[in-house]
Amino acid sequence: MAGHDCDDLLHELGHLLHGDLPEARRVALQRHLEECPPCLETADFQAQLRGMIAKRCFEQVPDDLAEKVKRLLDSA
Ligand SMILES: [Zn+2]
Repeated sequence: MAGHDCDDLLHELGHLLHGDLPEARRVALQRHLEECPPCLETADFQAQLRGMIAKRCFEQVPDDLAEKVKRLLDSA
């Protein structure tokens, strides 16, 4: 997709999940997710992660997800 930077999107994803992204950006972001499977996958993953943090059940994280988190932190 010309003109769209996936790294920007992933940064804004954090704001989206916090619910503090302006409406116009939120719409653009969701449109991008529909057209960009890799970003959609990351969005799903981050939403899952946030849900678990909110529920304070990190000790029950499945191994494969824990591995993903570890890789995410390593690459940060
Ligand atoms: Zn993308």
